[in-house]
Amino acid sequence: MRVESIPWTTQDQALLRFYRTAGRRLRAKISAVALSDFQAAYTDARLTEIQSIVDELAAKQKAWSRVELPRAYRAEQRLTAQLNAIEVPLFSAIDRRTVDMLIARTTTDVTEALQSITPSIGRTFIEAQQTMITAEQLKTQIAAGLVEGTAPRELSRNIREALRTGARQQLRGKVSVELAGQLQQTARGQYISIMCRDGKIRRYDLTRYCRLVTKTARSQAAGDAALQSARRAGLDLIRISVHIGACPLCIPFQGNMYSLNGDTPGFPLMPPEAQTPIHASCGHRMLPTTAEALEADGTLENVRAFSKSDRVVTDMKQYQAVLRGKSKGLPRVKTLDAARDAAKVRAREAATKRFRRLRKAA
Ligand SMILES: [Zn+2]
Repeated sequence: MRVESIPWTTQDQALLRFYRTAGRRLRAKISAVALSDFQAAYTDARLTEIQSIVDELAAKQKAWSRVELPRAYRAEQRLTAQLNAIEVPLFSAIDRRTVDMLIARTTTDVTEALQSITPSIGRTFIEAQQTMITAEQLKTQIAAGLVEGTAPRELSRNIREALRTGARQQLRGKVSVELAGQLQQTARGQYISIMCRDGKIRRYDLTRYCRLVTKTARSQAAGDAALQSARRAGLDLIRISVHIGACPLCIPFQGNMYSLNGDTPGFPLMPPEAQTPIHASCGHRMLPTTAEALEADGTLENVRAFSKSDRVVTDMKQYQAVLRGKSKGLPRVKTLDAARDAAKVRAREAATKRFRRLRKAA
């Protein structure tokens, strides 16, 4: 049995194109601000225009959620029915409520993330303005036309350049490291700060953010549908799908079979961490089945032994070996845990260092 991870649909692609266009329009607005030499009135007008692009984006994403999340949910109900040769359940009031909640949650998350764009660009503008005003004042005071080899006009040109192309060289030693970083991120179109699973805050550009939201929301809809269908049809076992290139967070779970209600002896209870999506952009899905079905295809004992063990699979070929009862040579979860813990410690240390540096700068 082979089930691919959640597919990317034409509707997702249409949304992604919309995000791309919005990204281009935003960059055009940002360059226009730079050319007006950061006069406050121009900046305010530009920020209003930027906000209207953001609002359009939020509306588009909301419309996508309303249509595509119920569709993803239905698709997973059909898949569960097909895999277990049962009838596709009707879209009941419970399903409606589940999907509505997911739409609301996605909309809240997206609105919060998108509404951070304008303030983040605005802060960059203000800091650039202030840097140039300071340079101008220094020039007047010194009346020499040059401050540390940087005339205000040259500084203005460099900042404009950085906003358009992200050039680092011209900024070195002339503006603060923070401002240089902000200008570069703005030039790269990275406006959205997101706290990632490893505790790091990363700036996403619009297309990357769009991919993250659509994929995660779609797989949440699929996960909700799978669990709901399993409960309704009395399917107690849940298999976590297997795909190549799975991340270290998912590998300990993939290919395992869990008991949803503890009704199937010998299978571990489904832990909440194993519910897909396991993390943002996770491509895994939950595939409900029964002990009878596994018995019928002769894999019950092998799958049970694997699910109770600390062995893991990293691709489909290894999983086929598990199904045939040949899981002896497979790696153990412990080795993976050790690698993951080391990565976590490193990430935490780096975050602490960054925080201390920021505090020093403030
Ligand atoms: Zn995953």
